[in-house]
Amino acid sequence: MTPGSEYPPLIRFDDAFPGLCWLGRVRPRWIRMARSDWSRARNFARRHLWPMALTVDRAVQADRRYLAEELVHLAARHRLLSMYLPRFMGGSFSGSVLGLFPVLEELAAVDPGFVGLIGGHHLGLTALALSFNFRLMDRVAGLVVRGEQTGRPFLIDCAITEPGAGSDVEEEDLFPRADLCTRARAVPGGAVLSGRKCFISTGHLADWHLVIIPYDRTHPLDKIGLFLVPKNSPGFSLGALEEKMGQKAAPASELVFDDCFVPSDMIVTQPGDLPPGRGEALLHGVLGITRTAVGAMGAGMARGAFEIALDFAAWHRVRGRRMIDRQGVQETLIRMLARVHQARAVYLEAAFALCSAFLPAQIPGFLNSALYARLYRTRFLTRLRHHAWFRRRAYRLFAGRPVTDHQRVQFYSSLAKVTGTDAGLANAHQALDLMGEAGSRHENGAEKLFRDAKLGQIYEGANELNRLHMFKHFLARDLGVDVFGTDPK
Ligand SMILES: Cc1cc2nc3c(=O)[nH]c(=O)nc-3n(C[C@H](O)[C@H](O)[C@H](O)COP(=O)(O)OP(=O)(O)OC[C@H]3O[C@@H](n4cnc5c(N)ncnc54)[C@H](O)[C@@H]3O)c2cc1C
Repeated sequence: MTPGSEYPPLIRFDDAFPGLCWLGRVRPRWIRMARSDWSRARNFARRHLWPMALTVDRAVQADRRYLAEELVHLAARHRLLSMYLPRFMGGSFSGSVLGLFPVLEELAAVDPGFVGLIGGHHLGLTALALSFNFRLMDRVAGLVVRGEQTGRPFLIDCAITEPGAGSDVEEEDLFPRADLCTRARAVPGGAVLSGRKCFISTGHLADWHLVIIPYDRTHPLDKIGLFLVPKNSPGFSLGALEEKMGQKAAPASELVFDDCFVPSDMIVTQPGDLPPGRGEALLHGVLGITRTAVGAMGAGMARGAFEIALDFAAWHRVRGRRMIDRQGVQETLIRMLARVHQARAVYLEAAFALCSAFLPAQIPGFLNSALYARLYRTRFLTRLRHHAWFRRRAYRLFAGRPVTDHQRVQFYSSLAKVTGTDAGLANAHQALDLMGEAGSRHENGAEKLFRDAKLGQIYEGANELNRLHMFKHFLARDLGVDVFGTDPK
């Protein structure tokens, strides 16, 4: 497909999201906003992102130290760095949680690398938001919004993975046994970090790093530490830039902490901040959102591959006939489209599970108004939400949702992640099969999508681990199965 060309008419909002359209009859405002977010994302992806995606991919292949700063500026100009910050914090979020994931599908259909790049930043913001540390959240939100206004983008990332601990630190049963090499030590006035984190999306482009290190490795979730480390902090340095196979626009970085001091006003969470025994809610909340997001991204990659294959089949001739006129090809294309719809149906179901557990489907009108944005900044409300009592109360409300709600979110978000990323890779593979040698040409986009799609199966916990996570949260609870072998009995 050429830059600027129209999408095939079958992928209109109403065709892609009949369930949401029906919901729009009951809740017109929710779906009006979701539809408008979606068209904004489609417009952006088609007009601005598409022409740059292959160029950036090629630039990083030519020089692995190349950082796609032009994409960061593009994202900032279009307010995509604050797209999930509510308006009362100055962000550009419309307020429709149901529109949040279709937007990612649109962007990933054109460039998964771009989604990986801004995804690292949004992962950091999500973890920060669910820590309920409003003081630091306000501070970071202010920097992100100001960065967009001044043309000097401000990004954060989120670092939990370590050289010996990837999926383990994303699974509460495995976390206490994970082979962690980082240490967080409380000292007067703050904490000292040492060790390394690896494969951190956006690391080399981030201004601040949100680093997750437990103070006590035997009880990591109860003694969890979240720290904000500015890039120029003494004792902090950037290590290797990974030369990974795909999603080249998103740098995957090593972060090195050599007795790096973090002052207490940059500590997001330390033992005692969260109610005891509720630490896993933070992990579950973050994964519930980010795995659903990766599922939507997978659906987007599946769609991107489908569209490339459809376009190719529509003009390429084999023995005098257009490929698309052959029944075998039509059947293959429908198989690809079916995967897109399956992946989309599951990530939407996960979005509904999130909304019925702890996210509002829509930010209430008053909270989304200019008046509330002014009230939010008043001294009274600022002092109230920055108070430790308020934070504990907010966290308790979120963590105190019935356990079945949390389990449902875990199951559906992992299902969305696995279904979406498997569909992305299957369709990218199918597109290459269908296109023959043309598929292997960089300029046709299919080989890039193939490289990009494989990575989706790995991050946010490898898909195999996500399947075990699903088993644990949906089947094991009734069957009494000890999935990760952690039951002392
Ligand atoms: C492109 C990219 C971007 C990333 N971005 C970030 C980021 O921004 N921040 C961050 O913190 N991390 C990031 N990561 C790291 C990512 O989250 C981890 O790679 C992921 O969680 C998998 O961990 P691992 O690579 O250590 O694999 P492992 O966990 O070591 O898994 C290797 C294999 O062993 C299997 N396995 C492991 N444990 C078990 C078990 N108990 N039972 C059965 N099978 C098991 C897995 O399923 C997998 O097949 C990124 C990774 C990639 C590739």
